[in-house]
Amino acid sequence: MNSDSSSGPLPITRVVSELARLPGIGPKTAQRLTYHLLRAPAEQVRQLADALRDLKDGIKLCDTCFNLSDRNPCHICANASRDGSVICVVEEPLDIMAVERTARYKGLYHVLHGAISPMDGIGPDELKMRDLLRRVERGGIEEVILATNPNLEGDATAMYVTRLLAETGTKVTRLARGLPIGGDLEYADEVTLSNAFAGRS
Ligand code: ZN
Repeated sequence: MNSDSSSGPLPITRVVSELARLPGIGPKTAQRLTYHLLRAPAEQVRQLADALRDLKDGIKLCDTCFNLSDRNPCHICANASRDGSVICVVEEPLDIMAVERTARYKGLYHVLHGAISPMDGIGPDELKMRDLLRRVERGGIEEVILATNPNLEGDATAMYVTRLLAETGTKVTRLARGLPIGGDLEYADEVTLSNAFAGRS
């Protein structure tokens, strides 16, 4: 039995195994997507390949808030109509999108790029923690809203930021409970998230 009959031609198995590495995509889905692409017009497949190739080159981190953007500063930091005296601290860039969907928050953001998790070897130094402190120390910030995920790591991270910023005298608030415990901010619905902002303490 040659390898072709067991796993298929190499160009196919390559795409299947790359897709299967993505979160939420198992081997079955990877196979289905691959065969879908094989049937799709060549032009569409080329466009997908080009988009993937440009993804890493075209996206950078904003030097101020560490959001992912095709611009630096990002479109939120560069927007003069946003309230520059409030910073909402989130774990991941996707959390910004969740908060923006509520259309309630008009301040700026700071992306930590993770949460403190000793089990995974992630401490404050692995996160954009010092950069947050420097931002607040530069002045002009009246409130820092902690919107880390409502789970163990998110709580530990929020506690650390609160202590880190204590000496700056800046008001630090945390989103109200009511977000699904253990869940990700990213998956919270707009009403729940809006209420969590309104009830922050
Ligand atoms: Zn930014």
